[in-house]
Amino acid sequence: GAKAEGRHGHRFFSIEQRRKVEHAQSLDTGLREGLRANEFLLHYQPQFHLGSGRATSVEALIRWQRPGHGLVSPGTFLRAAEDSGFIVQITEWVVRQACAQMRAWMQRGIAPDRVAINVSPTLFRRLDMHRLVTEAARTAGVPLSMLELELTEGVMMDRSAATLETLHALRRDGVSLALDDFGTGFSSLDYLRRFKVNRIKIDQSFVRNLPQNGEDASIVRTIIGLTHGLGLLVVAEGVETQEALDFLRAEGCDEVQGFHLGRPCGPDDCAQNFLVLRRAAG
Ligand code: C2E
Ligand code: MG
Ligand code: MG
Ligand code: MG
Repeated sequence: GAKAEGRHGHRFFSIEQRRKVEHAQSLDTGLREGLRANEFLLHYQPQFHLGSGRATSVEALIRWQRPGHGLVSPGTFLRAAEDSGFIVQITEWVVRQACAQMRAWMQRGIAPDRVAINVSPTLFRRLDMHRLVTEAARTAGVPLSMLELELTEGVMMDRSAATLETLHALRRDGVSLALDDFGTGFSSLDYLRRFKVNRIKIDQSFVRNLPQNGEDASIVRTIIGLTHGLGLLVVAEGVETQEALDFLRAEGCDEVQGFHLGRPCGPDDCAQNFLVLRRAAG
């Protein structure tokens, strides 16, 4: 929509723009009330080690059980939460909830090696992530080595000393770091040598059409080579078919995640999956 410039530089919003602003505001109000009313939950999606077939970790993915709207996906509300700053409270909740769930699985003897938590790039400038993660883990009684943070290129490109220090402190204390959605950003690769993550996750857009799409196949092969050349582990996300899985195995990909192997699900269904896998492996 066109934005008209007023006589004194005031901006007049079109009806459509005003509707967008109002929608964002009511969404933000809904989020705040939703957190108070305990409407958020985490689903977990397993990640598998290709060599052993073992489910090594789970990724925590937020959902909003919003009355009248059903189960709402993060794609529809994270943007608004970031714009309003409410993402801080959401992240605090996610980190504590993921730690509490790990503790519950540990007590039943069925915990995966790690739980991976997604972190928006802006978080590192908005709150002390090292403190949040270490305190949440200590409160729940979960070792820091059982936690992984999934970062996007936005975090890696942030050259502020504070962000780098936080990442180093997290690594030093045993938290794993993964670079999410790899290949979709606009940055150069120089952050890969400036900061060493544990894992690189190939974005699902490159994985979805494997192995038929020759260009995607070349890109994935190259990312696997690059990652291994740097001494890092590589994970493919968005594995939807047996053919894609076979391709990734043949190319030496370390870990896989996707609907073909397991959809995100609630903690109880997830635990059921761990048990089935343990039995199959043992
Ligand atoms: P992501 O971290 O890249 O997570 C992967 C997304 O792909 C998830 O969508 C997952 O359900 C979906 N997915 C997994 N396997 C497949 C597959 O085989 N095929 C297809 N088509 N999709 C697959 P979801 O849960 O809707 O999350 C979307 C994004 O929202 C995530 O992308 C992540 O960036 C963000 N997100 C989710 N939870 C959180 C959270 O707690 N905090 C923050 N800051 N971001 C979150
Ligand atoms: Mg992720
Ligand atoms: Mg991703
Ligand atoms: Mg994504």
